[in-house]
Amino acid sequence: MPGTLYLIATPIGNLGDMSPRAIETMKAVDVIACEDTRHTLKLLNHFGISKKLVSYHEHNESARAEELAAILAEGGSVGLVSDAGTPAINDPGLILVQKARSIGAEVISIPGPVAFVNAAIVSGLPTDSLFFGGFLPSKQGERRKRLAEIASIPATLVFYESPHRIGRSLADCLDILGDRTASVSRELTKIHEETLTGSLSGILEHILSANSRGEYVLVIDRDRSGRETRSGSSSLQERVAELEAAGHDNRAALKMAAKEHGLSRSEAYRQLQLSRPGDT
Ligand code: SAM
Repeated sequence: MPGTLYLIATPIGNLGDMSPRAIETMKAVDVIACEDTRHTLKLLNHFGISKKLVSYHEHNESARAEELAAILAEGGSVGLVSDAGTPAINDPGLILVQKARSIGAEVISIPGPVAFVNAAIVSGLPTDSLFFGGFLPSKQGERRKRLAEIASIPATLVFYESPHRIGRSLADCLDILGDRTASVSRELTKIHEETLTGSLSGILEHILSANSRGEYVLVIDRDRSGRETRSGSSSLQERVAELEAAGHDNRAALKMAAKEHGLSRSEAYRQLQLSRPGDT
């Protein structure tokens, strides 16, 4: 009978968040798969756990999943941890989970810290409906396009962001989503934990002037303007019309509106053509 894969959450900064069940499970499994063996060894040493570690990271995920699945197929048990937080949440895990399921192994989660849930609950924004978008694309055009796509989702939007991109991402959020209520958390569970709340513009100003370090979670309110968002082709059309009314010629207006929507000029042109009834 196949064995069990345990997805074990570990602290996102504060070792006090390691659960007794996580420790017990790490002690009990046959092998622990982890992103970085040196990093996880420190965690194991801290909690007096002695266990065989194998690396499982984004560059060897497929091959390692096969090897780990072979252990599961023989009835063995595997624990999977990431460097911080919950495995398979913007961390390696998915391929192994799929592999384990495909051979009939049990997959059990050992719950614990996850950054986006904790940032959402301290934000003061509604948590009845959350859209977790992981990391926004690193390229600006793709990022703006993604933001335009999700602008009208009726849920609180949550994103992970790295310290060197937080300013640029906030600026794009402000530009594409408008000046919504938002919250930015950094260093959650650590000594310098900080959550800034307010408008996107206010938070952006603070982040740019403070030059703080740390990893961020960005939480943004849903659209409350009641107007059509900028994501549809009709709003693209409206924006072109607005820019033309402001004195830009059609070519410049199309170029500017396309950039705001994260679209190429040809794609914006195509969408405009599609949105004009009878105009083929
Ligand atoms: N698996 C992790 C989890 O469960 O949250 C997420 C891993 S992802 C590679 C790393 C990102 O999570 C960081 O860039 C940051 O956006 C967020 N993050 C992780 N720890 C954090 C913390 N202590 N404070 C704020 N954000 C954190």
